Amino acid sequence: MLCCPHKDKKFSQGDKKQETLRFVLLEFFEMVSTSCTSTNTALDQLCVTWLVPLCWEEVSIMDEKNIPIRTYQVCNVLEPSQNNWLRTDWIPRSGAQRVYVEVKFTLRDCNSLPGVTGTCKETFNLYYHESNEDRESYIKESSFIKVDTVAADESFTQVDVGDRIMKLNTEVRDVKVTTKKGFYLAFQDVGACIALVSVRVFYKTCPLTIRNLATFPDTVTGADTSSLVEVRGSCVNRSEEREEPKMYCGADGEWLVPIGGCFCSPGYEERGGACKACTAGFYKARSVDPACAKCPPHSYSLRDGATVCDCHTGYFRADSDPASMSCTQPPSAPQQLISVVNETSVVLEWAPPRRLGGRSDAIYSVECLICKRSISNSQTCLPCGSDVLFSPSQLGLRTTRVVVSELKAHTRYTFTVHARNGVSRASGAGSAPSVSVSVTTNQAAPSPVSMIQVLDVTRHSLLLSWQQPDRPNGVILEYEVKFYEKDQKERSYRIMRTFSQTVDVTGLSPLTVYVFHVRARTAAGYGDFSSPFEFSTNSDPFPLIGEGVNSAFLLLSVSGVGVLLLISAAAFIISRRSKYSKTKQDSEEEKHLNPGVKIYVDPFTYEDPDQAIHDFAKEIDVSSIHIEKVIGMGEFGEVCSGRLRLQGKREIYVAIKSLKAGYSDKQRRDFLSEASIMGQFDHPNIIRLEGVVTRCKPLMIITEYMENGSLDAFLRKHDGQFTVIQLVGMLRGIASGMKYLSDMNYVHRDLAARNILVNSNLVCKVSDFGLSRVLEDDPEAAYTARVGHIPIRWTAPEAITYRKFTTSSDVWSYGIVMWEVVSYGERPYWDMNNQDVMKAVEEGYRLPAPMDCPVVLHQLMLDCWERERAERPSFSQILNMLDKLIRNPGTLRRTGGDRPTGTMLESGLGSEVCVSVVPEACVPEWSVYEWLQSIGLEIYRETFAAAGYNNLESLLALTHQ
Ligand code: AMP
Repeated sequence: MLCCPHKDKKFSQGDKKQETLRFVLLEFFEMVSTSCTSTNTALDQLCVTWLVPLCWEEVSIMDEKNIPIRTYQVCNVLEPSQNNWLRTDWIPRSGAQRVYVEVKFTLRDCNSLPGVTGTCKETFNLYYHESNEDRESYIKESSFIKVDTVAADESFTQVDVGDRIMKLNTEVRDVKVTTKKGFYLAFQDVGACIALVSVRVFYKTCPLTIRNLATFPDTVTGADTSSLVEVRGSCVNRSEEREEPKMYCGADGEWLVPIGGCFCSPGYEERGGACKACTAGFYKARSVDPACAKCPPHSYSLRDGATVCDCHTGYFRADSDPASMSCTQPPSAPQQLISVVNETSVVLEWAPPRRLGGRSDAIYSVECLICKRSISNSQTCLPCGSDVLFSPSQLGLRTTRVVVSELKAHTRYTFTVHARNGVSRASGAGSAPSVSVSVTTNQAAPSPVSMIQVLDVTRHSLLLSWQQPDRPNGVILEYEVKFYEKDQKERSYRIMRTFSQTVDVTGLSPLTVYVFHVRARTAAGYGDFSSPFEFSTNSDPFPLIGEGVNSAFLLLSVSGVGVLLLISAAAFIISRRSKYSKTKQDSEEEKHLNPGVKIYVDPFTYEDPDQAIHDFAKEIDVSSIHIEKVIGMGEFGEVCSGRLRLQGKREIYVAIKSLKAGYSDKQRRDFLSEASIMGQFDHPNIIRLEGVVTRCKPLMIITEYMENGSLDAFLRKHDGQFTVIQLVGMLRGIASGMKYLSDMNYVHRDLAARNILVNSNLVCKVSDFGLSRVLEDDPEAAYTARVGHIPIRWTAPEAITYRKFTTSSDVWSYGIVMWEVVSYGERPYWDMNNQDVMKAVEEGYRLPAPMDCPVVLHQLMLDCWERERAERPSFSQILNMLDKLIRNPGTLRRTGGDRPTGTMLESGLGSEVCVSVVPEACVPEWSVYEWLQSIGLEIYRETFAAAGYNNLESLLALTHQ
């Protein structure tokens, strides 16, 4: 179709040059052939008819830089109806869908050509024809499809042949070529003066690229100017697909909208768009990790590309540990295991291991063993049964506290707390480090009494009875009856204790409703009180038999001094005769019911020992205590001296008892119970409690400071250095303190010189209130030869044998203290063993008077050691007696001579050794005058003498008249 035959190419192909990556040059034609002759009929026709004389010709011209270039030109502007065609060779499409044709040309301005009006044009047309044929010799004009009419931006006017000043135009057109393997381009001149300088044919691609670690290949743009070609990327080496990598190739060769991408595989990280191996000392565990990381503490990597670092020797990694975690170690043993026994359950508490091995996943397990010691002293331990309960659990504990319950009473258990963590198994270390504690359980407290009945009612009394609790959980030692007037509520109540299941409550008001609660006590302590039962006294105005008019009152109603004296004398003598058999001390009920007397409250009746402490002791801020030095060793730990400064008070010296670490619940309770007891007392001869420290450890009991320490050691240190009066003064102080305690209904049970403290003024004070529970907690003490904690040498026989601890047994102990004092701290019964002491005492043997002991003092001791407790003096009587001795020092002058070897009661050797303080036997000088003097009525001396009463015996004959 072209005016020039195919063979005679108008365009010769130039170098295919890629100008940019995005443009792929298909063809580049420079105008090298100018031949326009053609054998092609159609073209010929076309050419012959219209174009031959004016056909395209190849001409050399100079470009703007005056460099000669070849062009195809046509300039048939004078003839009308021009149709001059110039065609390219076949151009393979090479996958392109849209090709770009850049034409450089010059165009002559028609106005500058004279006489061309109407025929001269200033445009040309660009055509294309798609074809699979690379050598089509004839293509019909109609087969070409027009791309565009191209006009020049710049035209030129002057023509200077051989030296044209021309304006070069560049126009680009694009065309969609999608149907065939290639295409032809053609230029149609319709009467312009035009010279084609070059034609560049190219298509666009989105160049190969790496985005998000995915490679996207060189991609030919789409067919339409708005089309986007979706391209799937492929992950670069050593990487893994994160999400399908995709991008779109835009028509202009730009990549658009990257989606998804890849991660570098474990052991590799992204560097410069590629995945590079982690170097030694670094690792990358997961593809999602952003980069290689330094090996965590206690680990290493020697080779490149490590996905995990190996642990140093002795360090481990648990299966579940992330590779980023340091290598760790198993824990050390738990610390400070404390056991607190509460009847048949045990609370175990411990502190976390000192070394947690760098982990925070320590867990604990509790091993429970029942251990028994055989006769050969070897210990066998068996695992506890499955009936033992652990709360919250036995294994896998994250807390440091467990409550073990449902244990057997009075059984020795060993608990071992093991600590493990995530690497305990990995370490292959065998059994986990542990700490153990052995405890002996107590007994469960008895269940409450369920029913109280009244057996007899009077105006002033109620006889009550009740059944044993359903579950006594041991031998019931006593019952406690609490009662109060209903109207009074519990504001003021009274307590009675009895060993039987009945009690006669006397001294009540007529026609009054009383509320009663009863609870039982075993070696395990008190059970809960029964629910309240109400009973009323009756209004019978007539006294019952045995009740009613007080004979003393009748006597006093006819009083006169003589009568008073008569009664007094008679009472005195009778009391001497029968020793102390009518002592008031054993009438404990009477004391309970005496409304004026403050009654001691057993802190062990509190369910919560901390409540007892709270009620009876003041909490002291530890910052107000200044500890100075250790002064002794108590049962629970060191005793120190120090100073206490309470706000608004002057600084005082104090003794500080502390509870050593690792204590059991029982030890804590016992330790604090001493303070709960002491805190109830207020007497110059009872050690004064300043307060307690319970809110921080160690627990402390703060008491007044006694400069001279315990009495026994003090006396030993000052052997023979005191006058008898000084010694009696000390004894008087102790008796006064004990009277106070007995008035409060408190039984000390451990009265001994070692438990008396002495201050700088030689004032003696009773201390150590800790023994009472220890004895009660020993259920076998009464039935076996076991002596347990009982201080045999100081204890009355009935207390040793059947645990009958009363004020009377305290009086016995007081007699021993007297002996210790007078002998300056000698050990009672010297080096005799306990069994021999018990046997000797049982057979009537009594300690002899110490050297230089006033006879009256030894007699008082012997009185205290009466087998029948009712025969022993009360502390009130002892106090009176000592007062009298102090007022009459002469009575202390007579001593029993050198230390004898022992005294047998009722041995008949009374002439040599005092066995009784009855006046006629040993104290003949005890005259009526002395007696009157002792009772402060010496002014009646003459009256008595005049009446013929010259000795005490004669006073017995004194009548009412
Ligand atoms: P205890 O625990 O009561 O047996 O005390 C042990 C020792 O500490 C006693 O024997 C005394 O030597 C000493 N001690 C205890 N309390 C005091 C105190 N209040 N003043 C001086 N020393 C004391």
